[in-house]
Amino acid sequence: DSADFDSEVDSVCPYCGVGCQISFKVKDGKIKYVEGIDGPANENRLCVKGRFGFDYIQHPHRLKKPLIRREDAPEKGLNVDPANILTHFREATWDEALDAAANGLAKLREDTGRRVAGFGSAKCSNEEAYLFQKLIRQGFGHNNVDHCTRLCHASSVAALMENVGSAAVTATFNEIENADVAIAIGCNPTENHPVAATYFKQFAKRGGKLIVMDPRANGLKRYASHMLQFKPGADVSMLNAIMHVIVEEGLYDEQYIQGYTENWEAMKEHLKGFSPEKMSAICGIDAEVLRDVARTFAGAKAGMIFWGMGISQHIHGTDNSRCLISLALMTGQVGRPGTGLHPLRGQNNVQGASDAGLIPMFLPDYQPVTDDGVRSAFTDVWKSSDFSSEKGLTVVEIMDAIHAGDIRGMYILGENPAMSDPDASHARDALAKLEHLVVQDIFLTETANYADVILPSSAWYEKTGTVTNTNRQVQMGRPVMPPPGEAKEDWWIEVELAKRLGLDWDYTHPRQVFAEMKINMKSLDNITWERLERSAVTYPSLSPEDPGQAIVFGDGFPRADGRAKFTPASVIQPDELPDAEYPMVLITGRQLEHWHTGSMTRRSKVLDAMEPEANCSMHPRTLRALGVEAGDYVQLTTRRGTVSVMARSDRAIGEGQVFLPFAYVEAAANILTNPALDPFGKIPEFKFSAVRVEKA
Ligand code: SF4
Repeated sequence: DSADFDSEVDSVCPYCGVGCQISFKVKDGKIKYVEGIDGPANENRLCVKGRFGFDYIQHPHRLKKPLIRREDAPEKGLNVDPANILTHFREATWDEALDAAANGLAKLREDTGRRVAGFGSAKCSNEEAYLFQKLIRQGFGHNNVDHCTRLCHASSVAALMENVGSAAVTATFNEIENADVAIAIGCNPTENHPVAATYFKQFAKRGGKLIVMDPRANGLKRYASHMLQFKPGADVSMLNAIMHVIVEEGLYDEQYIQGYTENWEAMKEHLKGFSPEKMSAICGIDAEVLRDVARTFAGAKAGMIFWGMGISQHIHGTDNSRCLISLALMTGQVGRPGTGLHPLRGQNNVQGASDAGLIPMFLPDYQPVTDDGVRSAFTDVWKSSDFSSEKGLTVVEIMDAIHAGDIRGMYILGENPAMSDPDASHARDALAKLEHLVVQDIFLTETANYADVILPSSAWYEKTGTVTNTNRQVQMGRPVMPPPGEAKEDWWIEVELAKRLGLDWDYTHPRQVFAEMKINMKSLDNITWERLERSAVTYPSLSPEDPGQAIVFGDGFPRADGRAKFTPASVIQPDELPDAEYPMVLITGRQLEHWHTGSMTRRSKVLDAMEPEANCSMHPRTLRALGVEAGDYVQLTTRRGTVSVMARSDRAIGEGQVFLPFAYVEAAANILTNPALDPFGKIPEFKFSAVRVEKA
């Protein structure tokens, strides 16, 4: 009963890219209860994270005052006990901390400016992401600005931009309601996009054919018409074999191909060498199953393809996405109800932050920094001089540049590279080397351990701003309560820092930022702050009344000639193959209860109670071969390091593989992972490292 609460506020979930709308019920300054409301992506549904993962905002570890590293602080390292934080940092006023943050960065700017880099956050609003990239570009004159999209779907974006001309999904996931066949590959929606998974389950219930492809037999298996548990890293061989059958048996959509695509002849020629009979041994799937999947998908009246980080986080991640795009194009499964390409976005605002230009090669709306006209359109609005036309460094490249002495200062907002970067020891050593590190966050994250200045900021439930989900739906985030202590909204901190860096910024509300974004972002045409206060709008919206287009590209693609492109992909081995010393395959990822580096969910009582301990999973036969029982501790060792973690038995994992979630600092998965990069998306190979497993 609403009389039981002091206030009720409608906002959006801070976790995954589904973007569920939630009503928060507040009493005596605390969120007492939440319920799902009728947002376009969730229709009243919530998963366990949205339902129970809100109390971290009142955790005693919240940062409430600005902090400056003490001159007599112990050496930088992962050694700050939150209960003893004042041994390392002293409390400061906002003026003092902002001056210290800005002066340190400005000092490094003096010669070329390139010595500073910035990581913004997919956990911030669109306005905050826009301001962050503007601060780096306008304030430092270069494009060394990136965020966790680099570790997430950067390779998908590279392939989509190349072949479709647009990085966002071509259809909302809700369109699966109109499909009769759907492929879900390299994704685990029942854990990572649980409300989206409910739509997949409904689709299967009404007879839709769900083809699940993943090295793990994940939670969608029980709804699948086909479960292809292929060998890790063998995506291209499997997908090329499926497309080979479509060509060989003439199952392609000739009319669509002729009307809307290019490079088909080269693609057909390329696929000749990938018969299922030849590829079966490489991908581990029977040739007849590959043929059946090809016929099933090509025979769909309306087919969709969904993918996740099992596709993107490989050195051949861009090739994986190229294959999926080609499969959709050759079967004409784009641009109609129940068809489309949908890379399931991870973070709640990774779509919006990328759209807002928080990436080193693109300005907002994926406009290239290399284009003089594009840059001048932005500098006109910003009333500032030109900045570099050179693409900036990406996340992993920035860590390497710190080691090389080329980057000496960083501004990191809401990201935790000490946990999320591959080869985390290398990343942590880099953070320790920085001459000046400014961290803006809500907790003393592992990354904040290395900071010189810490700026306490706001959780998602404490701020005003827009957010864009995996469906391209732009929604309004509203503050449920104010930030604790002296903590501030992120946009306010960015503005104050920018002013101290000499920038002429006078924003007093995020709606002014949104208005500025609209000038050079056509994707926001017809979307106004006032509309968003009333309801979500899907971009593109074709008129002030249009709620937005759930499906795009029915009449051609945003490429120069209106045609999408086939780009053939060849089989590339994973960077680090198992050998006698490291004989197994390590796969990292998420699990239902914990979000990314764990800074929020491990401070959320219910979620932490549900999954309280670091764990890895292996097939029971693998455990037996290792002489390990479920519940024993094992040591996982790769060429980068060793972690010790409790082992679980799980028949969903392939034999000779181990799955390790990356949320646990005490068994940090990224101590182990391989930083080798996909050459196009510059995304690391989180999904394949050679590992040795021993009983601890
Ligand atoms: Fe939040 Fe995603 Fe769960 Fe929805 S599905 S409640 S957006 S974590």
